[in-house]
Amino acid sequence: MKTVPFLDLSAQYVAIREEIRSSLEEVFDSVSFVGGPFVERFEEEFAIFCGCGYAAGTSNGTSALWMTLLCLGIGQGDEVITVPNTFIATAEAITFTGARPVFVDVEERSHTMNPALLEKAITPKTKAIIPVHLFGQPADMDPIMEIARKHGILVVEDACQAHGAQYKGKTAGTIGDAGCFSFYPGKNLGAYGEAGAVVTNDPQLADKIKILRDHGQSRKYYHKVIGWNGRMDGLQGAVLSVKLRYLPAWNEARRKNAEHYSSLLSDLEEIILPSEMDYARHVYHLYVIRTRRRDELKIYLAEKGIECGIHYPVPVHLQEAYRQFGFLKGTFPVAEKCAEEILSLPMYPELTREQIGYVAAELRNKLRLS
Ligand SMILES: *Cc1c(COP(=O)(O)O)cnc(C)c1O
Repeated sequence: MKTVPFLDLSAQYVAIREEIRSSLEEVFDSVSFVGGPFVERFEEEFAIFCGCGYAAGTSNGTSALWMTLLCLGIGQGDEVITVPNTFIATAEAITFTGARPVFVDVEERSHTMNPALLEKAITPKTKAIIPVHLFGQPADMDPIMEIARKHGILVVEDACQAHGAQYKGKTAGTIGDAGCFSFYPGKNLGAYGEAGAVVTNDPQLADKIKILRDHGQSRKYYHKVIGWNGRMDGLQGAVLSVKLRYLPAWNEARRKNAEHYSSLLSDLEEIILPSEMDYARHVYHLYVIRTRRRDELKIYLAEKGIECGIHYPVPVHLQEAYRQFGFLKGTFPVAEKCAEEILSLPMYPELTREQIGYVAAELRNKLRLS
């Protein structure tokens, strides 16, 4: 039996092994293990890649979101709007500032924030909106920005799944007041450990984050504010600098893989394929189909050696951890319906045409046989 893993990090590592090893050796030789020149170099390169003024490396994507909200002055008594179908970290970052997360349902085709529902969720306490560029596709930023500006509300993009994605030609993460990225190993740009970044065009915000992430100091042992340890380490900076050079080609490979899946599956009536919105350049962090027969298909594919994922099986408002807020089932019908129907097929740049062909053939088999 063939097997197709959901994600294959070693396929990528073997392709760049020599470069990675020599860059890691530079870090060992210079013993710059936390912050320092390798992190600074990556920050400069990543800001250029995104086409924005500043990037600040952080310990991970969750801390990037949390520290950004803190530096924007968000805390107790405030409300921050986001979507219920996201990785829990988006909501955790809000909760851990002391603010209250408020959810807005998503638009069915894009799985991202439905701007038509946004204004109704705004109250005098609303301080920020966090649209999530889920699965590699930006949310519809123009109407979100327009509503936010009209009400004087900040916008922080959760671009943790959207490195290099574009919205009307602008790079995801650079449209709002700040954009937050995760470099968790499986992301489109993945470190070899934990890492994240905040990008912004606001030099003061960039400075604040760099101070907050380093115990509130800009000069060693002189602490201006009560900070935190949210730094990126040197080894991750060096790995990310090497991998960033490949990101455009890797994103292109993901797009080709998505196109190939879609061409092989487009005639299946029981499956809704992912759509690339007119405004977007999707970078397919995940290739997510929808089907009423999700659970049965997932089991069948697993029996055939094909590993799939569900991102995410329970929307945040229905998670046990968020039960205290008292959300009822049915509050966000689109996110809830999607959670029951979504299935993430194997997706990574090194996936072969043969593997995609095998996944598609098995999906067709199951749907034809029953
Ligand atoms: C991965 C991810 C995060 C958190 O990033 P970490 O680096 O794992 O802390 C936040 N939001 C979304 C949408 C993510 O996919």
